Amino acid sequence: MSVTPEHSPILRLLGVASGWGAKDQGSKAGPEILASLGLEARLRHRGLEASWRKTLYPQAGNAAVATVAELNQRLAREVAEAVQAGERFAVLGGDHSSAIGTWSGASLALRESGPLGLIWIDAHLDSHVPATSPSGALHGMPLACLFGYGDSALTGIGGAGRKLSPERTCLIGVRSFEAGEHALLQGLGVRVYFMEEVLTRGLEAIFAEALAIARNGAGFGVSIDLDAIDPRDAPGVATPEPGGIRGEELLRVLPQLRDCPDFLGIEIAELNPSLDRNRSTAYLAADLLLAATAPRPPAVEDPIAVLQRYGAHNYDSVPVVLCRGEGVYLWDTAGRRYLDMMGAYSAASHGHGHPRLVKVLSEQARRLAIVSRAFHNDRLAAFLQRACELTGQDTALPMNTGAEGVETALKAARKWAYQVKGVAPDQAEIVACRGNFHGRTIAIVGLSSEPQYRQGFGPFPPGLKTIPYGDSAALEAAIGENTAAFLVEPIQGEGGIVVPPSGYLAACARICRERNVLLLCDEIQTGLGRTGKLLASWHEDVRPDGLILGKALGGGLLPVSLFLARREVMDVFRPGDHGSTFGGNPLAAAVGLEALDVLVEEGLAERSAELGAYFLERLRALRSPLIREVRGRGLFVGLEIEPERVSGRRVVERLLKHGILTRETHKTVIRFAPPLVIEREQLDGAVEEIGAALEELEDAG
Ligand code: PLP
Repeated sequence: MSVTPEHSPILRLLGVASGWGAKDQGSKAGPEILASLGLEARLRHRGLEASWRKTLYPQAGNAAVATVAELNQRLAREVAEAVQAGERFAVLGGDHSSAIGTWSGASLALRESGPLGLIWIDAHLDSHVPATSPSGALHGMPLACLFGYGDSALTGIGGAGRKLSPERTCLIGVRSFEAGEHALLQGLGVRVYFMEEVLTRGLEAIFAEALAIARNGAGFGVSIDLDAIDPRDAPGVATPEPGGIRGEELLRVLPQLRDCPDFLGIEIAELNPSLDRNRSTAYLAADLLLAATAPRPPAVEDPIAVLQRYGAHNYDSVPVVLCRGEGVYLWDTAGRRYLDMMGAYSAASHGHGHPRLVKVLSEQARRLAIVSRAFHNDRLAAFLQRACELTGQDTALPMNTGAEGVETALKAARKWAYQVKGVAPDQAEIVACRGNFHGRTIAIVGLSSEPQYRQGFGPFPPGLKTIPYGDSAALEAAIGENTAAFLVEPIQGEGGIVVPPSGYLAACARICRERNVLLLCDEIQTGLGRTGKLLASWHEDVRPDGLILGKALGGGLLPVSLFLARREVMDVFRPGDHGSTFGGNPLAAAVGLEALDVLVEEGLAERSAELGAYFLERLRALRSPLIREVRGRGLFVGLEIEPERVSGRRVVERLLKHGILTRETHKTVIRFAPPLVIEREQLDGAVEEIGAALEELEDAG
């Protein structure tokens, strides 16, 4: 016989269809309603071996009193058998007088091991004795009976012996009782948590204390009278009492029982289906039972393993799981803080969770988020106007991701070639640079020189051509009569933070102008202050014919991109030519506008220029044989390593240990592009950690 089941997964469900002594006989039907709601199946679904053993009905033909006594005896036998079999029990009672049978049965089973403990959750004290009971009904007496004050003819429980130990019994949620009842329990030393105390201290603290009282012995149980719960959550009871425990709170504390191997069973009584119009009380009762008994869901699996199982394997992420960000810092799920030297590929230039941006985002989300361009919205105009004014462009077309912005630029350039330049139909050509990165759509990877980006994804659209980067003569040579546009990054980011020779972009701009070719600058990564000016093309006073912005435009909160262009270029688009459901939505427009304002008002480009120069100088001063070159502009810095001595990935993982987050690009270049709000001291700290990490790698050989 095992009376302390080691977390037994078996649950014996017992219904008791009695309404004796209750004002309303409707509670008799409580157990049946719970059975009909599929309680057993729900418990099984949650991994509990639950079986509905039986519903006990009062024997027909007997006088009421004899029937209750007999019913309690049968119930006590069933419960005792369950406990002795090492199973948990759940008694789904009609009225609460069934508690007499339930707990005397449990007590009987524990007889040799020690006294039974009980947590009694109820609006009432249920401690009348036959002499003091106003109604004389058993309904008001079960607890007193269990303490030995019952009339055995009435209860069916033999002798006046105590079934419960007063010092291991406590009541929670009481708010309606008579003085005699309280005096009895006080005299016995039973701890009563009246509702005022529950409200003051919170149910969680009280339940934990109650557990300590009820445990500390051979076993304990929980008896819930549903009228303990506030009638807003459990209206379907015979005697609703306002001001009770909220259903949600009780659901929150009951799972503590799952960790108690000495928890023998639970009783839930007083569900009255005739008063439970929308069945909310029945569903709550079922949920309470689930909360108390269903096995704990398996511990959250390692998210990296789950991702491996459910995600596409298109990223090889650094093994850290981030869950919080603030300013330049990120935290992982273990609570470790890191300095973000990656800046989400420049998308987090404003820092994580910038208060102004979060405020605008949440206010706008509450007001209006998405309507599509089928209609106008009241946020887009101001956003586009500000973006044009700041960048010196005439017009702007909103999209979401960077790749969509680039696609938009390519479509505009082709149509411009046919309509304005006069290129023969379907002959337009786009020229881009080797080592470029403009995104991942089919057309864009068609422009890529990176074999992995292309392999397996062809055929690509015709009319795409690449030339060496940083070589304006190559551009001159590549342009023919069908050339529509030259697409270029002022500094190649993913290509390895490649800074072209001084004067390159200006030379390209001149060639494009002379040859009637559009200059399209992809400033998705280099733009918006990253390189120390609002646009990287401004370092050479270049105003491109088309400009693509993304990443930081969303303020680190949303994907927002723009294709900006001269009026003559943008005008090739007619209604229906191009668009996107989400492009220009009011939420994105509000955040984009604020992101631009913050950028200007906080002088982020200027910070980037000053701190970037400082950071470059400090990195260049690091004396490590593992460093081949340090290059960059503003806070857009690449540290190229000696690939035969160490791999980029090893450096990245070592930096992770030093609390520095970043990624390698092209296997050999460690990128440093922190949020532009970073402070000089934080950069100093980063340099120290980088130096230490490199030294360790050097020593490791
Ligand atoms: N263009 C450049 C220069 C980029 O760096 C990127 C992304 O890294 C893109 C385009 C593509 O942007 P997205 O990933 O938002 O599509």
